[in-house]
Amino acid sequence: MWRETTKHERNLRIFAEELDAFLPARILDFHVHVFPAETLPPGGPFSCAGHSMPRYDLDDLSQDLAEVYPGRETAAVCFGIPHPVYDRVGNNAYLRDACDGRRFFAFRLFDPFEDTPDSLWADLRTGRFLGIKPYPDYVRKPDVSLVEIPEMLPDWAMEIVNALGLGVMLHIPRKGRLADPLNQRHIAALCERYPRARIVLAHVGRAFFLKNVVGQLDALRDYPNLYVDVAMLNHWEVLEHAFGVLDPSRLLFGTDIPIALAPGKSVEINDQYTYVTPVPWALSIADDDRKLVFTSFLYESLRAIRKAVDRLSLPDAWVRALFYDNGMNLLAAIRPGSIAE
Ligand SMILES: [Zn+2]
Repeated sequence: MWRETTKHERNLRIFAEELDAFLPARILDFHVHVFPAETLPPGGPFSCAGHSMPRYDLDDLSQDLAEVYPGRETAAVCFGIPHPVYDRVGNNAYLRDACDGRRFFAFRLFDPFEDTPDSLWADLRTGRFLGIKPYPDYVRKPDVSLVEIPEMLPDWAMEIVNALGLGVMLHIPRKGRLADPLNQRHIAALCERYPRARIVLAHVGRAFFLKNVVGQLDALRDYPNLYVDVAMLNHWEVLEHAFGVLDPSRLLFGTDIPIALAPGKSVEINDQYTYVTPVPWALSIADDDRKLVFTSFLYESLRAIRKAVDRLSLPDAWVRALFYDNGMNLLAAIRPGSIAE
């Protein structure tokens, strides 16, 4: 079993020694991918950091949350796999029906070419989705790194999201990531033009190395409708910078489960980053000689968060807010009627 949970003795020890005293009682993961088997393409299973995964449904997620965070009350914001080769409509329908709006909350995959104003409006006005999840690949450019945010999020879609006051889980495009001047302008324009939309920059705007984040949150931090999630951030210096700059209420804990359950770590090398994994993966450098014993990306994230929190002497209330309160407050603001008291 490749999933790195406390079912493995080595992870149970990390949890007991490094994480148990740090983690609050309640944890809301704002960034989880959930996909039933029938939404996968005929070409084969999803590659979860090099491990093949035939499905990841809410039962799988429930089991993993219990095994990753023993003794914690957990909840998650869930969306499908955002790529044109997967069954977007089926994945959205699964989450619409399976998420209860109490523990599991659904965001809707959004494809600017296959969705229409009518289909998006009809789905979103049901209240079953609290936001949308666009993705650069849905723009279908030959070079995905040249995608621009307005191509992922055309005005007609943002007008619907804004009218309903919903969220956007935004994986920003382009090689320059958070430091890309065009991205910076487009993010600012989204926040200004659509003040009722809540824009969440996934992975702190994909700033997985320090030079990408330093100075790049300053122009964005005063937008009251801008948030970041910390999914897959294994880098304590990036987190320390973000925690020091941003309004604490705008920080959301997230992981990118199920990828985050795989063994590996994101590392910075010479103002770039890569993943290192025990098995080959398209996005990683693999430890072919098995020199290392790994834990999950997720536990590496928790270690990095804890280190940044310790260095900044942030109080327990701040930690509880990061892991739970901020996300729940955001969900409550999006759909006051659908949040259980
Ligand atoms: Zn993700």
